Amino acid sequence: MSQVGTLFIVSAPSGAGKSSLITALLAEKRDYPAQVSISHTTRSPRPGEVNGEHYHFVTETEFKQLIAENAFFEWAEVFGNYYGTSRVTIEQSLAQGIDVMLDIDWQGARQVHSAMPNAKGIFILPPSRAELEARLNKRGQDSTEVIAKRMEKAQSEMSHYNEYDYLIVNDDFDTATQEFSAIVRALRNEQEKQAIKHRETIRELLEV
Ligand code: 5GP
Repeated sequence: MSQVGTLFIVSAPSGAGKSSLITALLAEKRDYPAQVSISHTTRSPRPGEVNGEHYHFVTETEFKQLIAENAFFEWAEVFGNYYGTSRVTIEQSLAQGIDVMLDIDWQGARQVHSAMPNAKGIFILPPSRAELEARLNKRGQDSTEVIAKRMEKAQSEMSHYNEYDYLIVNDDFDTATQEFSAIVRALRNEQEKQAIKHRETIRELLEV
């Protein structure tokens, strides 16, 4: 592969539609490879969540063992559970020219940015507080206490929006998907990446 992939950090408060946007982007017809990184977590699976597909569900002991082995590119405690991104998987994918999406929180985003300054951050906001609350209620997967706790945390998560390169307000889903797609697409065309990919063409064009 003659092009290095871009690492995308995608953050949002719970209920902003982040997972749906990533899924929609990956389902689009594309001429470049992209994938979402599957994190490890100590939280329990929600109904419908599949081990190895949505998350790698591990015990706290297993998670701490992975920290000790330096297996995580970044990790953080979010809402009382541990979440982490496997180092090997993302490094291998990027080297193969695959764009990798990290669905992680702002704490993880800071760690990724300092380890890899070229990573691009995208923050997704809901159109209003009322809409966010409605979406969290509709999901129906969590208890009322968990939803109330997430509404509280949402505001603190959203206060980090200005640490990201791009902002998407997810009001109309199709519009938000198009915006997300345009950002990812544009980064494939960065001059440095294109110069590597089209090395031979450029050499031929500039030959004297
Ligand atoms: P949930 O439990 O709703 O799936 O995720 C809760 C929060 O943890 C979300 O903000 C999500 O982006 C974040 N998260 C998921 N995986 C990771 C990870 O590997 N690292 C970090 N730092 N945050 C994560």
